[in-house]
Amino acid sequence: MGAWVDAQVKEIKNWTDTLFSLKIQALINPFTAGQFTKLAIEIDGERVQRAYSYVNPPTNRLLEFYLVKVPKGKLSSRLQALKPGDGLMVNKEASGFFVLDEIPMCNTLWMLATGTAIGPYLSILQEGEGLDRFEHIVLVHAVRYASDLSYLPLMQSLKQIYKDKLRIQTVVSRETAMGSLTGRLPDLINSCILERAVGLQIEAKSGHIMLCGNPEMVRVTQQLLKETRAMSKHLKRKPGHITSENYW
Ligand SMILES: Cc1cc2nc3c(=O)[nH]c(=O)nc-3n(C[C@H](O)[C@H](O)[C@H](O)COP(=O)(O)OP(=O)(O)OC[C@H]3O[C@@H](n4cnc5c(N)ncnc54)[C@H](O)[C@@H]3O)c2cc1C
Repeated sequence: MGAWVDAQVKEIKNWTDTLFSLKIQALINPFTAGQFTKLAIEIDGERVQRAYSYVNPPTNRLLEFYLVKVPKGKLSSRLQALKPGDGLMVNKEASGFFVLDEIPMCNTLWMLATGTAIGPYLSILQEGEGLDRFEHIVLVHAVRYASDLSYLPLMQSLKQIYKDKLRIQTVVSRETAMGSLTGRLPDLINSCILERAVGLQIEAKSGHIMLCGNPEMVRVTQQLLKETRAMSKHLKRKPGHITSENYW
């Protein structure tokens, strides 16, 4: 990680009691869509820092993050309380390999996210670079309640831009909601309900899966894809079909 630079809050959007987007301005070094940086605040004389993924495309000067206030979370609750004009720190250098350059050639790219982990995909899709090589892209956002689908309007506007190339699907686990599948991602894959809904199959020979967010979802989905679809974790030294990022 690089140096810390001062940042100023430009906008805070509270979507629900716990979900919010933070837009800040700071002089950072260029990053690649899909990467994360660290945000920090000094609390009781100590710099408390955590990783957050960029939601904005690298070409956008306003830096956007999508956060959940974690119960008893040290930093997320403080970030939620910020107001426009307040200061914080951001790391100048972005990190992470959850980027398109790390994805091997494939026909269909599946982008699966839980909660705030939709961020990296929104950055990648808003940037729009390096997507020509995929015939289909499937963006799936899984949340607890329909009111947690904060970026559905942006997902829908991306669908307008990419047309048939992009399929978007929302998943809600704790209620039924029109337009969304009901349940948990691994179950919806296991039952083929997700594939039927988007009209594409998850296959090792044609697809690559990106998984981001809740570590339990990542672990269980990865295991399921291994057992039922003969898919394996993608490593530089051993190419496979699954690329993942855990948020905790
Ligand atoms: C690469 C990476 C990118 C990340 N990007 C984002 C992002 O874009 N948006 C975002 O909101 N968070 C993101 N996180 C999580 C973030 O770094 C913090 O862990 C989170 O904000 C909690 O920090 P805290 O200080 O409030 O909680 P802490 O006081 O550090 O408590 C942490 C505990 O809260 C739990 N926890 C952490 N994150 C979550 C969560 N999202 N949902 C439920 N429980 C959680 C874990 O059990 C963890 O042990 C990312 C993490 C990583 C590793």
